[in-house]
Amino acid sequence: MIRMSDVNKGYFVGEEQVPVLKHINFQVEKGEYVAILGPSGSGKTTLMNMIGCMDLLDSGEYYLDGLAIHETPEEELTQVRNEKIGFIFQNYQLIPTYNVLQNIVMPLIIRGMTRKEAEERCMDTIRLLGIDHRLTHKPSELSGGQKQRVSIARALSCNPAILLADEPTGALDTNSGKEVLKLFGELNEMGNTIVMITHDLNVAKAAKRIVHIIDGELSE
Ligand code: ADP
Ligand code: MG
Repeated sequence: MIRMSDVNKGYFVGEEQVPVLKHINFQVEKGEYVAILGPSGSGKTTLMNMIGCMDLLDSGEYYLDGLAIHETPEEELTQVRNEKIGFIFQNYQLIPTYNVLQNIVMPLIIRGMTRKEAEERCMDTIRLLGIDHRLTHKPSELSGGQKQRVSIARALSCNPAILLADEPTGALDTNSGKEVLKLFGELNEMGNTIVMITHDLNVAKAAKRIVHIIDGELSE
């Protein structure tokens, strides 16, 4: 599903190019549940941006679901993201003026689906996540755990090749965090490929495989 070979990425600070990701080789097969574990400043968000096609590599190759991302023009990456990746963020990134249902179906509406079609398609996921009694609520009326479940339902709406989560439990209390991780386990059992990024070993342990990132370098 993911195949990165010798990927490098750095940032310019003034005149100087500072390497952040160094010779990254990383593979994820379909159906895997992988955690990327590393301390603050190790390059996790930069790697997530690479995996999520949110930024261009400096060098190396990246195949996502068979597609050569390193050869894809930047203007086509938005569509690749919409089709291939379900993002889950620490701060949920829900649209505050939309209700739960509107937030969940939004990626499908963007794709050109009618509201009715989109809502029908999301109903199984909505029931699975136990948020069917909250559909007309605004995000501000939900608990953190509920907001994260809405964001997971939104991520699943497009039937993505991978679920990509950045510190998904980072803003949650212990119990809600556990529930989200339990849900990830269930989604993986159902066949979803999950890549989760975290600085917390206890969170990483929920995954079936842990990859460490330290100072921009990966190791199993
Ligand atoms: P993490 O998510 O693991 O905390 P990041 O990927 O955010 O790590 O950052 C890794 C390193 O890259 C840090 O030293 C950070 O200062 C640097 N960095 C990240 N983004 C930029 C940027 N846009 N410009 C310059 N340096 C950056
Ligand atoms: Mg980060």
